[in-house]
Amino acid sequence: MMKALVLTAYNKFAMEEVPIPLIKDDEVLVHVKAVGICGSDVHGMDGSTGRRQPPIIMGHEASGIIESVGQNVSGWKAGDRVTFDSTIYQLSDWYSRKGLYNLSDNRIVIGVSCNEFRRDGAFASYVAVPQHILYKIPDNVSFEHAAMVEPIAVALHAVNLTDLSLNDSVLLGGAGMIALFIIQLLKLSGCNPIMAFDLDQDRLNLALKLGASHVFKADSENIIEEIKKLTHNRGADIGFEVVGIAPVLKTVIEGVRKGAGITLVGNISPNVELPLQTIVTRQLKLQGSCAICGEYETALDLISRNMIKIDPLISAIVPLEEGPSWFQRLYNHEPGLMKVILQP
Ligand SMILES: [Zn+2]
Repeated sequence: MMKALVLTAYNKFAMEEVPIPLIKDDEVLVHVKAVGICGSDVHGMDGSTGRRQPPIIMGHEASGIIESVGQNVSGWKAGDRVTFDSTIYQLSDWYSRKGLYNLSDNRIVIGVSCNEFRRDGAFASYVAVPQHILYKIPDNVSFEHAAMVEPIAVALHAVNLTDLSLNDSVLLGGAGMIALFIIQLLKLSGCNPIMAFDLDQDRLNLALKLGASHVFKADSENIIEEIKKLTHNRGADIGFEVVGIAPVLKTVIEGVRKGAGITLVGNISPNVELPLQTIVTRQLKLQGSCAICGEYETALDLISRNMIKIDPLISAIVPLEEGPSWFQRLYNHEPGLMKVILQP
């Protein structure tokens, strides 16, 4: 048996003794050392997304030590320090074979239960993971930092999909976790100026600390004017929308120059109204970015080489047992609260 933090009903958690997961021949059993609470876990706990149907052990941003391996596992052994992709994809899928595994059909997300699938996650002492989604953690990277690889890889995927050049100016709508990693990656890529807007002043302060050159309160009136002043009166070369709501997208569209590309990462709203004529006549390119497609190794390498700052984004590292109260604080949108990492 093992301990696990179980979502037993919507908005209700319990620490329970549950059986240690059985591994299949191609899976390993990971002894979980650190696991982050994801925004999607917080949004999912009240039933509003339909993707955390109780009872479920959530948690997909995790790291740990391999405890045991299935009989068909090769290249991994007990004692290896690992992290893993948040999704389990089929290697035989048409998209996977094209190198687009993030778009493959019938992907399963670890720690998610919806109408299509149910897979227990890492808010527990142990989690079962197929070998093809494992990544080795560099020796100098802590388990807590390795548990942050998933959001960094999401940011990296968005940046990799964006056509950018040295010294390009960038405008970001939103300064949450993913945006703060995108800002750091853009800084590494030589972008300038890097401009971000958000409603939350704490996040804007963090954005400045992590590489943004200019930040704006989202409700101030002259954002577009300010952006124009910083970009030869043209608008930014590149835009990122990292919230997923109409007013943010609108400001990003208005804040980029003609011919600019905008990468869309946020997707809180299923539908938003688009200023079609503006997009067509200003010849803008909209690029969606979904999850991660192989960026884990690079993300781990950047962490190992100290190229990405993680600590300012970790609000707390606490025992698994304290999970419920931190879930509640995240659910209440406590100001300044970013990533909470649990230790089973
Ligand atoms: Zn996540």
